[in-house]
Amino acid sequence: MLEVHRTHRAKIRNHSQVVEPLDRHGWDASKLWNVANYHSREEWEETGEIPDHSDLKDELKTHNKYKGLHSQSSQRVLEELAEAFNSWYGKRKADGRANPPGYRKKNYYDSQGRRVHEEHPRSTVTWKQNGIKHDIKNNRVCLSKGAKHKEHPKAWEYILVEYETRPGVTVENLQQVRAVYDKATGRWELHLVCKDEIETPTAPGIETAGIDLGICNFAAVAYSTEEANLYPGNRLKQDSYYFQKEFAKCDDPGGERATRLHKKWSERRTHFFHSLAKHIVERCVARGVGRVNVGNLAGVREDESGESKNWGNHGNLDLHGWAFDRFTKIFTYKAKVEGIEVVEVSERDTSKTCCVCGKEDDNQRVERGLYVCEECDSAFNADVNGAENIRLDLNQSNSESSAILDEDRSTGWLAQPAVYLHDLSSGFQPQEQVVDCKP
Ligand SMILES: [Zn+2]
Repeated sequence: MLEVHRTHRAKIRNHSQVVEPLDRHGWDASKLWNVANYHSREEWEETGEIPDHSDLKDELKTHNKYKGLHSQSSQRVLEELAEAFNSWYGKRKADGRANPPGYRKKNYYDSQGRRVHEEHPRSTVTWKQNGIKHDIKNNRVCLSKGAKHKEHPKAWEYILVEYETRPGVTVENLQQVRAVYDKATGRWELHLVCKDEIETPTAPGIETAGIDLGICNFAAVAYSTEEANLYPGNRLKQDSYYFQKEFAKCDDPGGERATRLHKKWSERRTHFFHSLAKHIVERCVARGVGRVNVGNLAGVREDESGESKNWGNHGNLDLHGWAFDRFTKIFTYKAKVEGIEVVEVSERDTSKTCCVCGKEDDNQRVERGLYVCEECDSAFNADVNGAENIRLDLNQSNSESSAILDEDRSTGWLAQPAVYLHDLSSGFQPQEQVVDCKP
């Protein structure tokens, strides 16, 4: 059996009865975020290290704000913050202007510039299993309140929410409930995360494909059917350019507008990752692929001397490392559902070895994305070369020859990959021309 998680969105039927406690919990989640954020920044300034979520928990579990939410809900806020700091930490190496996670509040000033009022947004509140009681028959959940909100002797221990999902949806094996505030409608809604078990699917076949993740081409895929596909990262690059420019216009990097932009950017990235993963998985199924090798980034982050190295001329990998990790997770999940195994293999030397003759050359010429081998006179797309070496799992091959293409195999496809560009409305569309990648 294979475990999968599904998230169902649900309307709250007794909204007027629960809006007040949900508001309080949403505000308390923002306040806890701010306290933990302040603490993390102090720690960072004093020691140069960012506390992880368990450090934060040790530090803050007796704090008044921690008691505003059920303990597991408070832990989730700290996890989110630690994730945001980690992501910033990765980005700042490449972009010194990257801002650390902001505070969740808005200040109002009078004409003399004195702060007269402070407002917290309603953050998403997550309940995990210990904080949930599920009444399946009546479509109700009891969500545990924070200790602080239970102090009044007549106060209920939990918020009783009646929900309504789309028709035909069964909410079973509830693992997590997220209360999400929609500013546009002024209403809360629930996201119900359920565990589902499905029959372990049968692999579509015994073929192996290889994926090389990169910056110019976000993904290059090589199939044993002598096919190669390129997925340029233009969309991500354009978004990055656009949102950086918009951030620069924000007066307050932690303010409402900046927060909204961050959210939008992150949604667009997630959408890109999901549609890309879906596109590749569908093609794997059609080609009888049972295993996909994905280049393991650890091998790229460090070279033999243990020093981190630059990714060609395209800047530091750290900026992209988290994007690759995130995509790989999404892809692995979608592949698993189809019975396809995803294996991370070493990327060492995959970019400097010719996938046709196996010759390794440190000074390999790569011009305008073309890999040129002087040994066998091949010239083909450099990212496709990497993907094919990853497909053949160069570093695991016991005999040297197995890492090399069959002599009979044609090599034309290596030079002529199909290119798919992402379009927000229609998904991935094949392009006539190879997109030129300028370093
Ligand atoms: Zn060669």
